[in-house]
Amino acid sequence: MRRKRWVIAMDGPAGVGKSTVGHLVAKELGYHFINTGEMYRALTWKALENGVDLSDGWAVTRLARSIQWEFRPVGEGTTLKTFLDGEGVTTQIREERVSRNSSLVAAVPGVRKELRLLQRELGKDGGIVMEGRDITTNVFPDAEVKVYLDASLDERAMRRYRQLKAAGKDVSFEKIREEILARDRKDMERKINPLRQAEDSVLIDSTQLSLKEVAEKILEHVRSRRRDGAR
Ligand code: C5P
Repeated sequence: MRRKRWVIAMDGPAGVGKSTVGHLVAKELGYHFINTGEMYRALTWKALENGVDLSDGWAVTRLARSIQWEFRPVGEGTTLKTFLDGEGVTTQIREERVSRNSSLVAAVPGVRKELRLLQRELGKDGGIVMEGRDITTNVFPDAEVKVYLDASLDERAMRRYRQLKAAGKDVSFEKIREEILARDRKDMERKINPLRQAEDSVLIDSTQLSLKEVAEKILEHVRSRRRDGAR
């Protein structure tokens, strides 16, 4: 399939800066940006609110199917945000109980199938930067540009630590590091659509780079693919 406007797919572990980078890239290209982790988080939040047993895959899948999902542009219009049954959930999905449980919900095959349908629908005409854990490998294996963003565990934990400190939160570096490590393990070791680098993706290690520099690298890659006449 040839799309005039491309799909830029990005995967990588927790806290690597995919959202910041994705937003910068989308803005520059005049594309939409979506963080698919927010969909898994939103479903986790709804399940917790409704008292659904998270270990009951069928119940969580049924819930995913019953929700009216919407993705609306917010702010200057680049970023698409998730709305569940008409309700915005931006604040709720950052709750600690949601962060802790989202990997569990994300390991349910029926949930992944349902969310993949929504993600493919969002990207079918291109013009989107989509980030997550399985976008390059499972949702859009045919994306025109595929990026795997990585950084050392210590660097990712330090970035998150500084972010939370700056927001006035009393947090421990060690605890953040442990949480990130635990989440990476769950996402990389799950049976269905685990996080891994697609063979034909571009690997960018951001340990020594600013997120602006990473975005510039991706944009350079997009330009060079266009010059090469890809599609
Ligand atoms: O991106 P974020 O860390 O907020 O994602 C929350 C969780 O959602 C991840 O830890 C992962 O378990 C799940 N996820 C996924 N596939 C995606 C995006 C997120 O399994 N494409």
